[in-house]
Amino acid sequence: MTIGFSLTDEQEALQERAREFAQTELAPVAAEIDEKDVFPMELLRKMGSPPYEFLPIPIPKEYGGRGLGILATCLVNEVLSATCATAVVLMEMTHLAPTWLSHASEEDRNRYLPKIARGEGIGAFAQTEPGAGSDPKNLRTEAVSDGDQWVINGWKRYVSFGHEAIYIVVMARTEKGVSAFLVDAKTKGIDVVERVPCIGLRGHQDEEIEFKDCRIPKQNLIGVEGKGLRLALGTLTETRTTLCAGFVGLATGALDAAVKYAKVRESFGKPIAEHQAIRFSLSEMATSIEAARLLTYKAAWLIDNGQTSRKATSMAKVLASDVVLKATNLGVHVHGGFGCTKRFPVERFFRDARIWVFAQGSPEIQKEIVAREILKD
Ligand SMILES: Cc1cc2nc3c(=O)[nH]c(=O)nc-3n(C[C@H](O)[C@H](O)[C@H](O)COP(=O)(O)OP(=O)(O)OC[C@H]3O[C@@H](n4cnc5c(N)ncnc54)[C@H](O)[C@@H]3O)c2cc1C
Repeated sequence: MTIGFSLTDEQEALQERAREFAQTELAPVAAEIDEKDVFPMELLRKMGSPPYEFLPIPIPKEYGGRGLGILATCLVNEVLSATCATAVVLMEMTHLAPTWLSHASEEDRNRYLPKIARGEGIGAFAQTEPGAGSDPKNLRTEAVSDGDQWVINGWKRYVSFGHEAIYIVVMARTEKGVSAFLVDAKTKGIDVVERVPCIGLRGHQDEEIEFKDCRIPKQNLIGVEGKGLRLALGTLTETRTTLCAGFVGLATGALDAAVKYAKVRESFGKPIAEHQAIRFSLSEMATSIEAARLLTYKAAWLIDNGQTSRKATSMAKVLASDVVLKATNLGVHVHGGFGCTKRFPVERFFRDARIWVFAQGSPEIQKEIVAREILKD
């Protein structure tokens, strides 16, 4: 095994493009997205179109994507997240599409993936329910076979960007266990009941959706009946990795803001950056962010090189979750009382981190996965 820590020219160019987009397109509207709780969909289209083309990065070339893989997606997520984490939620929704649809039909991949790559729609994922979050085996939504159709009934919670979806992957119980279904968003019987405002990642729209006698063709079962949760686990190993890069980016944004402020804010006749308590906090945070970045890149490298490791990804998510919570907290702390006002983005970063760590499985569930894997070894 060779170990290298330098990026290719193509990877550096991706980061540069992401910085340009963050500065010119996201920075001017990030606070407004947060305040209004709406993400402008024209930005999604820009993320899918030249010169940026971030959304197609994880989508295979034959479906209109760039086929650049997981590490490339991580590099872009990291940069965007330091300015506007909600944009990375959209990157994540896009990334879920090729992973889920790789188990669907060729016709469905051709129908949805090119649109998603261009930012003309979003693929949503509906697993969580009022009674089933960390424990999806407990979900209650049902899919009943009726002739050449499945009939879905149930209530889903926390469907990100459900109202913008062109399809929804719905996890539902059948006679053989929990199964995954591809539901076109135009199907009758899908009702976005409520958009629930959240503490952070505002604009991402946490939605409650009711499925009421929603009929879909028999062939829209994804994979094998009763094996939906196994598919979800495989899919999430990829997308959790790119999510970790978002955490690393948000933590870096908070640290950069703290460093900048610590150099100019004075107390007791000197910049606060000269007080040892502040210096050590910044130093410890920079060190742990770097550790989370390395674990994330390693997990991404393993996936790109055909050695996907659930343990590596969950280790990255355990550490990156902890680091992003601490770094954004420190970001506010170094700004003192001002850090708690809307005048500084650290206030938004802090709220974004607080909610984000639960996405795609809470930190405790990631620790469980790591424990299971090391006890099995
Ligand atoms: C930004 C964001 C976007 C999301 N988008 C989607 C989406 O698009 N589609 C979707 O289906 N869901 C989505 N979710 C939901 C997410 O998957 C759930 O929030 C997550 O799985 C946790 O479930 P829960 O919130 O019901 O918490 P619960 O499962 O109720 O857990 C509550 C607390 O108990 C802890 N806990 C639970 N079980 C254990 C255990 N065995 N050991 C130790 N601690 C435990 C948890 O860590 C947590 O701290 C999203 C969530 C967020 C925050």
